[in-house]
Amino acid sequence: MQKAKPKVAFFDFASCEGCQLTVVDALQTHLGLLDAVEIVEFREASSAHGDDYLVAFVEGSITREQDEGRLRQIRDQAAVLVALGACAHTGCVNALKNLHPLADVRRWVYGDCADWYDTYPARPLSAVVKVDAFIPGCPIDRNEFVEVVKALLVGKKPAIPDYPVCVECKLKGNVCVYHIPAESAGLRGKNCLGPVTRAGCDAICPTYGDGCEGCRGVIPHPNRDAMADVLAEAGLTVDDIMGRYTMYNAYLEMETKA
Ligand code: SF4
Ligand code: SF4
Ligand code: SF4
Repeated sequence: MQKAKPKVAFFDFASCEGCQLTVVDALQTHLGLLDAVEIVEFREASSAHGDDYLVAFVEGSITREQDEGRLRQIRDQAAVLVALGACAHTGCVNALKNLHPLADVRRWVYGDCADWYDTYPARPLSAVVKVDAFIPGCPIDRNEFVEVVKALLVGKKPAIPDYPVCVECKLKGNVCVYHIPAESAGLRGKNCLGPVTRAGCDAICPTYGDGCEGCRGVIPHPNRDAMADVLAEAGLTVDDIMGRYTMYNAYLEMETKA
């Protein structure tokens, strides 16, 4: 008798859905995954609807009270809940609004219709429910998605790097963007969050001459003093890079200060 395939579902909250699109992209080149699992819910790619699933991949941030009940239902059903992408993992760009008074943000976005829409400060999934695994990045890396699915299928915890982007950058032999003379750097980023950002993207931004913006989130136990030293050598301060840092890490920054 053929063994039943694990049932997998995809859900989204506040997001651009780019991470789900990356999943679709990954499935096109890894058709074997479609043989290994049964997808019972994936609004962006399938008309199937199913409430019975083992693994839930959840994209997006929690930005409304009504999101919480839906997320808890998903959590109750899923044996494994995976935060899919930076919106779900860290709050990503959604949490930028947390840096401003909510009433102002609503007015900037919805104008006279601000009262029509519910919203509260954006949070990652882990602020509401237990998250078993995460796939970082904005968007996720499609190869990393495939590796995470493979690990889950054999009952292993996915191996997500916990070292900084600088490690990958140096292994590639890149010239550090902090060492590109200002006069020749042009519009390219002359600062970089690689020393404190989680690796796994193959240091793609510095490889093309741009500084890392921190989309994969901050590593556990970042060496903030070393980061400050790197900045000081480049004639910069922590304040000089806060605009870049909070692009993807505003939620963490606010939590750290709280
Ligand atoms: S992490 Fe980035 S690409 Fe993914 S849903 Fe959020 S904004 Fe879109
Ligand atoms: S600071 Fe940025 S550019 Fe420099 S080595 Fe680290 S990741 Fe590469
Ligand atoms: S280098 Fe930084 S900003 Fe670029 S993909 Fe990697 S983590 Fe994201």
